[in-house]
Amino acid sequence: SASLEQADPEIAAAIKGELGRQRHEVELIASENIVSRAVLEAQGSVMTNKYAEGYPGARYYGGCEWVDVAENLAIDRAKKLFGAKFANVQPNSGSQMNQAVFLALLQPGDTFMGLDLAAGGHLTHGSPVNMSGKWFKAAHYTVRREDQIIDMDAVARQAEEVKPKLIVAGGSAYSRAWDFKRFREIADSVGAYLLVDMAHFAGLVAGGVHASPVPHAHITTTTTHKSLRGPRGGLMLWNDETLTKKFNSAIFPGLQGGPLMHVIAAKAVAFGEALRPDFKVYAKNVVENAKALAEAMKSHGFDIVSGGTDNHLMLVDLRPKGLKGNASEKALVRAAITCNKNGIPFDPESPFVTSGIRLGTPAATTRGFGVAEFQQVGGMIAEVLNAVAQSDDGKAPLVEAAIKERVKALTDRFPIYQ
Ligand code: PLP
Repeated sequence: SASLEQADPEIAAAIKGELGRQRHEVELIASENIVSRAVLEAQGSVMTNKYAEGYPGARYYGGCEWVDVAENLAIDRAKKLFGAKFANVQPNSGSQMNQAVFLALLQPGDTFMGLDLAAGGHLTHGSPVNMSGKWFKAAHYTVRREDQIIDMDAVARQAEEVKPKLIVAGGSAYSRAWDFKRFREIADSVGAYLLVDMAHFAGLVAGGVHASPVPHAHITTTTTHKSLRGPRGGLMLWNDETLTKKFNSAIFPGLQGGPLMHVIAAKAVAFGEALRPDFKVYAKNVVENAKALAEAMKSHGFDIVSGGTDNHLMLVDLRPKGLKGNASEKALVRAAITCNKNGIPFDPESPFVTSGIRLGTPAATTRGFGVAEFQQVGGMIAEVLNAVAQSDDGKAPLVEAAIKERVKALTDRFPIYQ
């Protein structure tokens, strides 16, 4: 049959445009990465044609022998990678994996605790606009004003007070180490379950450069597409057999129908890649590069929330320059440096404006950037944002165009999908 180019030139052109954008930008969105050709190939495969409701060996459809092979490989590799006894590789997304935990362990109206979105938590951890905050009673813990770090004694006191059924650790914009052992002790002290959503730093756990929540949490969830560098999707890991039926039946038939078998095949490929020794080197580089970028930003007069980073991301506090997150994000995109505006803890600006940007190193590290390149990137960000801060001299567009050229030269040295 016809190629995509012949069959649908409009979509083919959009995909080609997106490839060009990815080739010639510096990708600093902390939740993105650049998957391998093998992952792309598995995801773009004939397994998309197959219905496979149920689990390997117990399906509601015939003809599942090959998708069973793929799902079993994905499960076995995930368990090995993270040292977990049980895994569910079917969640279609990160949001659905967390919904499944709520469905499995809570009743509507139950109280749970999670990190406040404004302090780096995720929407699915109890935001009032998300189902987790609409159907359940969210009690949020936050970070200390003085050092923007989670105060575990305050978490313990709050747990004692609100008696949650579930405590959620993990987030989307928290750059510091998590004390999983203490979280579990606090959960145990009030008879709560502990969910660790390691979506952001799962690749670092897989690579052995970040503490693992899996031995401590009743349930660990992660997306597969961030630092873990797989296809878009979710993964659930646990060790207690008595929870197996609850989690598996929450995903299917609780929330989902037929699993995305092509995505599950691609997850298996990505887990296989993460099991190889070179992924350890990658994870180590991601963390080193994040420290280098944070130091570079500080040397150019920006503040880093909490003073630095222990993982792959950081929040840059733009207030020392009198800048806002929204205008800064736009200026950087014009210079082919992609990141997102992000609220900082106790942000005086609205979530549409914000006083910060979030920067992460997983994607550019995949294409081969090291410390020297991230120092350069820090310098380029500073040039663009300093020009925006002095916008009355009218030079910002010239600076943005000049940096875009320099980004092109830099990214040409680190080609992707050749
Ligand atoms: N959990 C965390 C910590 C996240 O950062 C994200 C995504 O940003 C999610 C869950 C949700 O993942 P998805 O976008 O696949 O629904």
